[in-house]
Amino acid sequence: MSEVKAYAAQSSTADLKPFDITRREITEEDVEIDILYCGVCHSDIHTVRNDWKNAKYPSVPGHEIIGRVVKAGKNASKFKEGDLVGVGCMVDSCQHCDSCKEGLEQYCENGATYTYNSPDEHLGGHTFGGYSEKIVVDRKFVLQVPENLDIKAVAPLLCAGITTYSPLRQWNVKKGDKVGVIGLGGLGHMGIKLANAMGAHVVMITTSPDKSQDAKKLGAAEVLISKDEKEMDKHKNSFDFLLNTVPVGHDVNPYIALLKRDATMVLVGAIEPLDPIHGGGLIASRKRIAGSLIGGIEETQEMLDFCGEHNIVSDVEMIDIQNINKAYDRVVKSDVKYRFVIDMKSLKNS
Ligand code: NAP
Ligand code: ZN
Repeated sequence: MSEVKAYAAQSSTADLKPFDITRREITEEDVEIDILYCGVCHSDIHTVRNDWKNAKYPSVPGHEIIGRVVKAGKNASKFKEGDLVGVGCMVDSCQHCDSCKEGLEQYCENGATYTYNSPDEHLGGHTFGGYSEKIVVDRKFVLQVPENLDIKAVAPLLCAGITTYSPLRQWNVKKGDKVGVIGLGGLGHMGIKLANAMGAHVVMITTSPDKSQDAKKLGAAEVLISKDEKEMDKHKNSFDFLLNTVPVGHDVNPYIALLKRDATMVLVGAIEPLDPIHGGGLIASRKRIAGSLIGGIEETQEMLDFCGEHNIVSDVEMIDIQNINKAYDRVVKSDVKYRFVIDMKSLKNS
């Protein structure tokens, strides 16, 4: 076991501050990783601030992890010291339920072990995430990172990338489809890039008119301001697919109106009650609403390889860990372009 530096919140109202945590000795199955970069997901904030009423403290968030292998157990010999690797939202799962057998560990019927805030089977207590110097992870949950990409900008692919890639694939988004991405933040900007690379005609649907130029640079063919009812009316019944990344409960009825007959809106953002949905909006044209949670490990590797081939990374703003609390406030105000990534070297100065 080793003591490592980390940043933790001690309660839902406390700032994140330096805090030492324990990492286990590697087992034969494990890989020990020195963390270089960690992305800042809105889920980190929801957890630290206990928005989902399930937070455990001390809370060390972080599930967009890029690092280098320090050592690997006997059965993890595919990883060598110095290899560049990634860890996303999960660090374990039961491996024998139907979902795990299908490579859908995120839907593990016995409960996947998340990178933070899950019961820690090895050390007791709960798991601690990537706002730390090191992490020890079962080899099956360690991803290989394409060497051609800018690694600090790869970190957000581990959550924002896979969470948008998986529904785009599951709902078979293809060349020429009209795809709307709702909310231009960490997930949304990856949604634009990935749907664009799949050949879709991407429309950014945003509450922030000042993000229009950026949306186009990121690959959106059109920008639709969701507060502009006239513009929204023009796009009624026209979308093949909508990816909704809005991080809070909201009125989804205006978005349902945008879908074509038989088309689906997938929710990935609001893990909380939505405003009431008018059944008529769904019934009249056999429209659908669905949800989607990150992606399985095999699919996450597929997404990383896809990004390697298409040269896709996140647009990042680098921060030192000492500025994490300010960064959280900016994310909550939708003021991030478009993902904060922590340079973990800065932790050494804490
Ligand atoms: P983010 O960077 O804060 O982006 C969310 C964007 O949604 C904002 O930039 C803003 O874009 C828009 N928005 C914010 N409040 C809104 C409101 N009240 N009404 C309409 N639009 C609003 O967050 P993120 O990191 O992309 O995460 C988005 C959500 O997905 C979070 O709730 C996170 O916990 C969740 N998440 C889910 C999964 C999953 O597996 N399903 C994985 C990761 C994260 P505009 O300025 O363009 O309107
Ligand atoms: Zn996340």
